[in-house]
Amino acid sequence: MTVRDVIIIGSGPSGYTAAIYAARANLNPLVIEGAAAGGQLMTTTEVENYPGFADGILGPDLMEQFKKQAARFNAEFITKDVTKVELEGNIKKVFVGDEQYQAKTVIISTGAKAKMIGLESEQRLLGYGVSTCATCDGFFYSGHQIAVVGGGDSALEEALFLTRFGEHVTVIHRRDTLRASKIMQDRAMANDKISFAFNKEVTEVIGDTKVSSLKLKDTVTGEESNLDVTGLFVAIGHTPNTSLFKGVIDTDEMDYIQTIGKSTQTNIEGVFAAGDVADHVYRQAITAAGTGAMAAIEAERYIEAN
Ligand code: NAP
Repeated sequence: MTVRDVIIIGSGPSGYTAAIYAARANLNPLVIEGAAAGGQLMTTTEVENYPGFADGILGPDLMEQFKKQAARFNAEFITKDVTKVELEGNIKKVFVGDEQYQAKTVIISTGAKAKMIGLESEQRLLGYGVSTCATCDGFFYSGHQIAVVGGGDSALEEALFLTRFGEHVTVIHRRDTLRASKIMQDRAMANDKISFAFNKEVTEVIGDTKVSSLKLKDTVTGEESNLDVTGLFVAIGHTPNTSLFKGVIDTDEMDYIQTIGKSTQTNIEGVFAAGDVADHVYRQAITAAGTGAMAAIEAERYIEAN
């Protein structure tokens, strides 16, 4: 069986960037990009903060460009999900069902998923008023009425950030006590532009082609109400896609892959992690791409040294 230099598991900005760098270093990377290739940007509309695209670019178009660039230098792609890995030892094994692939190094870039409320209307309007990233999309909501769902630090951080743009921000939380840290609560409570809708859950996002309001239900009394907003930011947490690596690769208390120091090196030699799977802080396409480049450079150096 051929032992490749690099297998990249996952795609998105980190996986494709790792592929570009590895391919240009003549490492002939195999990218097993996942059945839903392209990552979180595939459900995003306009991306205005990716450097180099002064007029903005649609998320899926940006990912197509990334992939084309990697393909230009002969990266290979398999658009399926990895089902099993054996990463210890010098030869790493990666399985896609019954197929087995082997490599000297593996770059994990399986990303993370934003948790969603789980409504059909929320999915339908994702990118059209429903967002999971204030840093990415807040700018589009200048002067708007905005709602944020969630009661943790993320929700309050998003709400505070969104006050720079929105006319008003309503934080909708399913209980009457916030999970967020005291300091974030104090900051949010002290902000005139933020109000709280406690004991409320969103039962429907209303709008044909863009969000116009939300249907809310009181979690205590069951009473229904409407909230007029044009933006809904869902901030109820993220889940890193690390189930494949449980028990093998070290993760932190939130299941994100732990890397050593400022590198992308994991606890297993020759295995590197890049992008959101190892980052719960920045979660940006540009930072994911940056760590993808780092992982490829580190993989190349590892191969050279061994
Ligand atoms: P989190 O702490 O798990 O909070 C998630 C929030 O979403 C909770 O309030 C939860 O409600 C709510 N929620 C979960 N599922 C829901 C659903 N289906 N419908 C409605 N609400 C739902 O997640 P996070 O805020 O993303 O924070 C993750 C970690 O990162 C935390 O440790 C946090 O401290 C840290 N963080 C820190 C900062 C900072 O310090 N600046 C910023 C961001 C994140 P319940 O409370 O009822 O469970």
